[in-house]
Amino acid sequence: MTLIELKERHKEIIEIVKNHQPITSEAIASHLNVTRSAIRADLNLLIMSGYLDAKPKVGYSYIDQEDRSRMADYLQTIRVESVQSLPVVIDEKTSVYDAAVTLFIEDAGTLCVTQNGYLSGIVSRKDLLKATIAGSDTKAMPLAMIMTRMPNIITCNPKDSVYMASKKLLDHQIDAMPVVIAETHEGLLKYKVVGRFSKTNVTSLFVQMGKTLSGGTTL
Ligand code: ADP
Repeated sequence: MTLIELKERHKEIIEIVKNHQPITSEAIASHLNVTRSAIRADLNLLIMSGYLDAKPKVGYSYIDQEDRSRMADYLQTIRVESVQSLPVVIDEKTSVYDAAVTLFIEDAGTLCVTQNGYLSGIVSRKDLLKATIAGSDTKAMPLAMIMTRMPNIITCNPKDSVYMASKKLLDHQIDAMPVVIAETHEGLLKYKVVGRFSKTNVTSLFVQMGKTLSGGTTL
């Protein structure tokens, strides 16, 4: 699996590192006749995509193809179900006011909305804010009036890879999605909400992986 398409500058950096490893960022920059800050983003990208390894006070080294594809395979094996949070689920008849209170109590950014126990919508912080600053009577207004509703809800399955689910969050510019299991109810395809997958889950996993890879110490 190739995570990024390499640009000419990335290929140049990889060649320099292969030939002079371990090598500091100053030395790489001097090979390229540029400043260290000019290549900072490129180095970060190459680390994130598994081409380079960076060790403090030692420098950069190259990670060979076999190790990289092992890392890519490993990334594909981490499933949503192993990092997901408990969903915060609320019925669509609930008022906008009560939903905002729930958001605070549950410390969540997104609420999954259901009708008869099945996913019918989703409500974010901004949806609730919008209704509030518009001067609506939030105690009388049901969530159903402001939620983003089915079939426009982006969801994922517990068995999806965290990599693909994270890509979905980025592609659709959303903070979270319901983790669902499909089932047929009265001849219709419906979705039971079994979890919540958010950017926070990905951040926690990333930090956990960093700790594990560095043997429990801070990188
Ligand atoms: P916020 O609006 O608090 O920054 P988001 O960026 O997640 O949070 O939400 C932006 C918009 O997208 C909102 O109108 C919300 O209803 C909608 N939305 C949030 N999550 C989803 C999802 N999983 N599927 C479809 N729409 C969503």
